[in-house]
Amino acid sequence: MTARIIDGKALSQALRTTVAEAVADFVKARGAAPGLAVVLVGEDPASTVYVASKARQTVEVGMRSFEYRLPADTPEAELLGLIARLNADDAVDGILVQLPVPAHLDTGRVIAAIDPAKDVDGLTVTNAGRLAAGRPNLVPCTPYGSMMMLDSVGRPLAGLEAVVVGRSELVGRPMAQLLLMADCTVTMAHSRTRDLPAVCRRADVLVAAVGRPGMIRGDWVKPGATVIDVGINRIPAPERGEGKSRLVGDVAYDEAAAVAGAITPVPGGVGLMTVATLLANTLIAAHRRRGLTAPAFFAELDKRLFGR
Ligand code: NDP
Repeated sequence: MTARIIDGKALSQALRTTVAEAVADFVKARGAAPGLAVVLVGEDPASTVYVASKARQTVEVGMRSFEYRLPADTPEAELLGLIARLNADDAVDGILVQLPVPAHLDTGRVIAAIDPAKDVDGLTVTNAGRLAAGRPNLVPCTPYGSMMMLDSVGRPLAGLEAVVVGRSELVGRPMAQLLLMADCTVTMAHSRTRDLPAVCRRADVLVAAVGRPGMIRGDWVKPGATVIDVGINRIPAPERGEGKSRLVGDVAYDEAAAVAGAITPVPGGVGLMTVATLLANTLIAAHRRRGLTAPAFFAELDKRLFGR
């Protein structure tokens, strides 16, 4: 069997178009566009690229982008002060602090300072707790985008065995919660899991969020399974020239694609959906903060995925 490729490029483009249309309606009704503030502390090259891309796409869908680039040695009090001002600013509907922050800053305190109503990364304890309780508000972008990719396969999720490898706050845990809400039978695997290949082979839906290039081999994949590869790993690619590198996922793609029913590629998969979902979350936050229901597209999506 050769797997169907779940095309992150096409899906993220479609989502951005949906968001742009809803933003236009929002502007017509409210007179102002939703706004997303992105805060970058330091000059980590990968984070700098991500932040620039988020800002560009925010503007492309018609929303306002507020970018804050702070020096790497910014004192925590100064960062918390900025977040407090963004919390109070009505033009700002979403706040994202690009992670990781420099080591002298306490990530937990920084995240906790964000108003949960503007927490478009879904990382505050309030939003994580709501998700764990099965009453989500703003859901972390990568898992929510991954659920949209699963939805695009058109295979009902209820009753399927799902295995999530990785249990981070950002990806693994919220992904498992969302799959549970979609009525999957969920296993969370991690570095202490015994016989990981056997656990993975049970999965009708296999999600890899580990950060180890090609760790999940083809013979770990159940024939016909849907594979969501969240991993983004940069590895040397001498075949492309000296000093060159390329991105690969946590799944050995060629092997897995020969067995799976559907699979996300890397690059061109989950990563693209993550940014599009961030824009969607900002739009949703802009509605909910004003007591408005989210645009119909998201209500229908949530109903289809989670029956709510
Ligand atoms: P973390 O490092 O926070 O978590 C990694 C998880 O993998 C941990 O739970 C760890 O287990 C588990 N793990 C590590 N080694 C093994 C192993 N040998 N066997 C089983 N489990 C293992 O990573 P993130 O969740 O933040 O990110 C995971 C990957 O996803 C990375 O490649 C990252 O770049 C990528 N990513 C991609 C995004 C996208 O938009 N596509 C967004 C965010 C992340 P334990 O808890 O036991 O230590």
